[in-house]
Amino acid sequence: MKTTVSRIAGHATDLFVDGAWRKPASGRYFASYDPSTGAPWYEAADGGEEDVDAAVNAATQALQDAAWNAITPTRRGGLMHRLAALIDDNKEDLAQMETRDNGKIIGETRAQTGYLPDYFNYFAGMADKIHGEVLPINKTGMLNFTMREPVGVVGVIVPWNSPLSILATALAPCLAVGNTVVAKPSEHTSASALALAELCMEAGFPAGVVNVVSGYGESAGHALSRHPGVAKIAFTGGTDTGRKIASNAAANLTPCTLELGGKSPHVIFDDADLERAVNGVVAGIFAAAGQTCVAGSRCFVHESIYDRMVDRVAARARAIRIGRPEDPNTQLGPLALQSQLEKVQRYVQYGLDQGATLAAGGGRPPIKGNGWYFQPTVFSAARNDMKIARDEIFGPVVCMISFRDEADLIAQANDSVYGLAAGVWTRDIDRALRFARAVDAGTVWVNTYRSASFVSPAGGFKWSGYGKHNGFEAVREYTRVKSVVIDHSGLGRDAFVIQLK
Ligand code: NAD
Repeated sequence: MKTTVSRIAGHATDLFVDGAWRKPASGRYFASYDPSTGAPWYEAADGGEEDVDAAVNAATQALQDAAWNAITPTRRGGLMHRLAALIDDNKEDLAQMETRDNGKIIGETRAQTGYLPDYFNYFAGMADKIHGEVLPINKTGMLNFTMREPVGVVGVIVPWNSPLSILATALAPCLAVGNTVVAKPSEHTSASALALAELCMEAGFPAGVVNVVSGYGESAGHALSRHPGVAKIAFTGGTDTGRKIASNAAANLTPCTLELGGKSPHVIFDDADLERAVNGVVAGIFAAAGQTCVAGSRCFVHESIYDRMVDRVAARARAIRIGRPEDPNTQLGPLALQSQLEKVQRYVQYGLDQGATLAAGGGRPPIKGNGWYFQPTVFSAARNDMKIARDEIFGPVVCMISFRDEADLIAQANDSVYGLAAGVWTRDIDRALRFARAVDAGTVWVNTYRSASFVSPAGGFKWSGYGKHNGFEAVREYTRVKSVVIDHSGLGRDAFVIQLK
């Protein structure tokens, strides 16, 4: 079976374990829905504990197999370059698949799948440049060096909002350093992970190096996070789920990387280039219909320009072209899930109940059919203590909040349980740097927003999680350091005394 849009539409997909398609032990399949119509478009295998066990065993076996562990790092990098080329060849189909599965507009999914080859090429280039060190040990006649080794089997649990890109942030560094992977995609978006696993096989990765078990979080995800054969969990998703996963993993002392939710402050000072700032704010919240972890959902505006900025952001929000996600002219597609649409509706009501004012949007757009569309929504007169400013809505809703001065801004910006990202628009570099130092955020953008790069370490603080992806930080996440001490002095030393000299 080849996992392309045309092949899976109307069919059922299986699990991908040990280089082959496998039926789920449960024998069950569940529907995956097209958010632009609300109708099911394929069925995914309902994997569970037995399937996860089979996948972890296959991944463990692959680690022990010379076909993977004796390959030179340069050749491992070569496999990844080949995978990058295959992704490039298939990028249009992968983009169509993502758009169909989670409703993200085609312009965005094309940008994401177009970026993936470079993502894999970057980590491919690292494969033979990862090394330990020789340390100047404080003992005579001894040599101390470190080795940086793969951690082993990595369990990767992925959300639905950017399924392929988020899987890649773990998969690429994991493969570069020689790990094996069991991936559990979101139950809402299984297709692209299966397609990627297939491309890995086509690229020549040995069977068992990349496995995909689709299924629900409470069954397949739960089993993966507590499996004793898993050496590391890479999780991206909601904060509550992150807590459950970390506590499951703790039973085996399995370390985790947790990329969780956010409520990111996006700041406009009165000295900013206001045209660029408005663009940044609009794109920062309405791209992907606000369903990005780094969405700039709390927009802080200096009080002297507050009313003007609300008007401008609201006018831009009203002008956004809402439509079917596969139409290249569409700027805002549907939300990915019906439950997500209902959540956004609930939060708009909370905002109104607590006294915020709708400057734009707040309802369903007049689009025919049963798609899960919602208007780009701008709340003015919002305060940082309102529920709409405290909770992650994960939808196209921005809270416009005014601030007096830098001290007031920092106090409000940091008054959040989250600490994922922040943005600031100002022409004053000193002010920008003061903000960057003071704000609790894993990434700070100055006069730009959502500029991601595979070289740039990303990850949150506080309830936004811990650990990093991208750059060499990702290599650290997926390797372990072993210290080797050799006595080459020829001296007889007292076996019962720790050698202090
Ligand atoms: P989610 O937490 O509901 O699900 C994420 C994944 O976890 C899915 O694969 C799901 O099946 C699995 N899961 C659910 N319950 C589980 C359990 N008990 N044990 C093991 N696995 C379980 O998140 P979502 O709704 O798919 O995604 C939205 C969330 O992801 C938002 O909060 C968003 O901020 C966050 N996110 C964070 C980042 C980041 O880099 N920080 C990036 C994208 C999304």
